[in-house]
Amino acid sequence: MPNFEEPRRAPRSRGFARRWWGAAGIARRIPRKRPVTRGPSLTRRAPGARRWPNSVALIVQKYGGTSVANLDKIRNVCERAIRTQREGHQVVIIVSAMAGETNRLLEMAHKICATPDMREMDALASTGEQVSAALTAITIQALGGEARSLLGHQVRIHTDGAFTKARIHTIEGSKLLSTVQAGRIAVVAGFQGVDAEGNITTLGRGGSDTTAVAIAAAIKADVCEIYTDVDGVYTTDPNICAKARKIDRISYEEMLELASLGAKVLQIRSVELAMKYGVPVHVRSSFSDRPGTMVVGEQGLEAVVVAGIAYEKGEAKVQIINAPDRPGIVATLFSRLAEQNVSVDMIIQSPSRGGKGSTDVTFTIPKADLARCKALIEDTLREIGGASIEYDPEIVKVSVVGLGMRSHAGVASKMFRLLADEGINIEAISTSEIKVSCLIASKYTELAVRVLHEGFGLDKAPTGK
Ligand code: ADP
Ligand code: ASP
Ligand code: MG
Repeated sequence: MPNFEEPRRAPRSRGFARRWWGAAGIARRIPRKRPVTRGPSLTRRAPGARRWPNSVALIVQKYGGTSVANLDKIRNVCERAIRTQREGHQVVIIVSAMAGETNRLLEMAHKICATPDMREMDALASTGEQVSAALTAITIQALGGEARSLLGHQVRIHTDGAFTKARIHTIEGSKLLSTVQAGRIAVVAGFQGVDAEGNITTLGRGGSDTTAVAIAAAIKADVCEIYTDVDGVYTTDPNICAKARKIDRISYEEMLELASLGAKVLQIRSVELAMKYGVPVHVRSSFSDRPGTMVVGEQGLEAVVVAGIAYEKGEAKVQIINAPDRPGIVATLFSRLAEQNVSVDMIIQSPSRGGKGSTDVTFTIPKADLARCKALIEDTLREIGGASIEYDPEIVKVSVVGLGMRSHAGVASKMFRLLADEGINIEAISTSEIKVSCLIASKYTELAVRVLHEGFGLDKAPTGK
């Protein structure tokens, strides 16, 4: 049976192998009976315009941790869901754990032991969403609405067995559809699924976004609304750049690139699914009614050269100095990292500072994997002979992203110049068709984001877009 999500990617260097899209179709997409005429597609509507007069839409609303952080905020999201239902629509809500709860749970386990069993970590972490789902359903009922909470296994979100980063195989939409058709609001616990053995699994940090888009695809919802603490996708993280501007419409491709380069407003896998199944995603604030950002196909969008700036602080730099320069050295090292499921990102190999016949190799891996990889890297280098190693976790990858780069030269050189003018040294570079990334010292994060944002004209509203 084809998988709902693509099979897990092999640990990769993004600079070389980008993502690949298989031909797998959606498994068990549920045909939906609509009681009345389907409203026009949200993709053809200006964001925020009134929707579907005299028609029923099926709406998925996902509320992140800050939107359900306490009982008052839960009440706020419940009022919105009830309002949407009373406008005549069918509503499925996905909730995250209350803000900070997932971290609190994981930290408790790490106080008990350094490497807790992954199965138990998922059993533990999934409880955060269970609490929010039940409290949300209770609040809707207390407000006079009808609701039912549903956990991953009750919705039958079937995943593989990769604890802490499971991928969705199938979703049975029938339970959700019968719930909403009976006039109830279905409240689904995000982030969790169940594997073939009946174990609880979780979908990786930020995974409730993926639950929401996957459900929207499975039940053919008209829109998947992602409610969060900012009112849309911005030209860069509004929490570190005061001049960041909200983007009205952004393409799946650009959003995918921004998400993979650190813009955590959407989990990357949710954007992959939205793009694969054509789900219109509306990112917006749970604290206002202002229209947010529509994430849509690139047709009809004017390709701006630079759409946004992202930064990723979650990687560490490893530098191998003076390794013997012969075939097979990097093959041996990186295949061992791959066996440990470690994603290598930027890689540079250059003639060694140490002289002829030797080479330096610099690469980045997730900070979270650094401790467990040190012994492996050092053992491998002992076998290879003659090298020394430096580790640097104080780095950040800043990236500029835009579809228009496909047809505009000069973005990379402009980026290098803007950073150089501030005295910021670039330690590694990687590019793809629609992005340029530079590795720099993390103390320059805010400064770099600010100068790039201004230098690429993102402070000002685009003309002709
Ligand atoms: P939630 O808890 O609702 O899932 P997240 O914390 O996961 O919310 O994502 C929202 C955060 O993403 C924002 O508070 C913001 O700091 C961050 N962010 C990073 N880059 C961007 C961007 N380009 N646009 C909007 N938000 C961004
Ligand atoms: N609660 C999970 C996390 O904090 C999933 C989510 O919020 O999307 O990562
Ligand atoms: Mg999130």
